[in-house]
Amino acid sequence: MIVIAGPCAAENRQQTLETARLLAASGVRVFRAGVWKPRSRPDTFEGVGEEALRWLAEARDLYGVEPATEVASAEHVKLCLRYGIRTLWIGARTTTNPFLVQQIADALADCAIDSVASLGTVGMMGGLPTAAPLTILVKNPLSPDAALWEGAIRRMEKAVGEGHVMAVHRGFTTAETGDYRNAPNWSVVYALRRSMPHLKLLLDPSHMAGRRELIEPLCRQAIELSYDGLMLESHVDPEHALSDAGQQLSPTDLRRILAALPKRRETNDASQELAFLRHEIDELDDTIWQLIARRMEVSREIGDYKRRHHMQVLQQERFDQLVARRLRWAEEQGFTAETVRAIMDAIHEESCRRQKD
Ligand code: PEP
Ligand code: MN
Repeated sequence: MIVIAGPCAAENRQQTLETARLLAASGVRVFRAGVWKPRSRPDTFEGVGEEALRWLAEARDLYGVEPATEVASAEHVKLCLRYGIRTLWIGARTTTNPFLVQQIADALADCAIDSVASLGTVGMMGGLPTAAPLTILVKNPLSPDAALWEGAIRRMEKAVGEGHVMAVHRGFTTAETGDYRNAPNWSVVYALRRSMPHLKLLLDPSHMAGRRELIEPLCRQAIELSYDGLMLESHVDPEHALSDAGQQLSPTDLRRILAALPKRRETNDASQELAFLRHEIDELDDTIWQLIARRMEVSREIGDYKRRHHMQVLQQERFDQLVARRLRWAEEQGFTAETVRAIMDAIHEESCRRQKD
């Protein structure tokens, strides 16, 4: 199981090095920390920039961890490589934009050529260049679009080679994200798995959950679905983190969660397909119930309106119209009329009950 862990952002030297020290002591080999942070709003902490690359290089020298950070431009790539940072990730907002992805891929391809050329004969062993390999992690795009994600991964593979790219599933921005900050949409990941079976796949439960308490169950799901690894946010003082405070784990909690995880099993394609499909069903059920709950909320507001205007709760004509509309559509989808009526009656009965409350 690949484990990448570290703070959302490198905030200062002490916080970066102390987090790296504690995580290295727990066996974490790859240390993540954002240097440039893509924030929704201005006037929030946007990372400290180049200076933090020096702290990441120090973390490597002091504790033997492999540092990793996010790049969102060709300039970021060049700066990272100058500090010897060779594990880079493309964030969800960047994966969404093929222009940016291609610019990063071009910068990586140029740098890969430069570093081989600059090794000359000194760095050659048995004819192979010995420059540390590049590893590029591609987070899923914001929208649940497997083709967009796959396209970004393929651009990276062309630049640095197939074995050097991994996908990171961090969830999607959708209308219903349920308890999560970003909805898993397992079916999108399954589509990617099918079209790129060679690809290593990691789960980022921190950005998916958005809340500490949901991280452990998501790690278990990653194991059930045979993910190859996890990318987790961990901070020495999570409560006071300058970004993503609610989802970062202390190094002690991270260690406890990792130690309690079952071992990753190799599964065959058929059992993996079933596991993904079951996850998808669970997710759809969650969404259906959230929508029903929202519908009940609106229904209650209508109840208040009716009360204020001295109207009856049951408006038979309106309900008949709703059922007729649904019947026309549902029959085209292969539902029987009995099923449609049973579901509509149950929803309507619950709505009337709430309007009377
Ligand atoms: C991050 O990993 O810190 C990050 C910003 O992630 P994402 O692109 O998944 O939002
Ligand atoms: Mn973050």
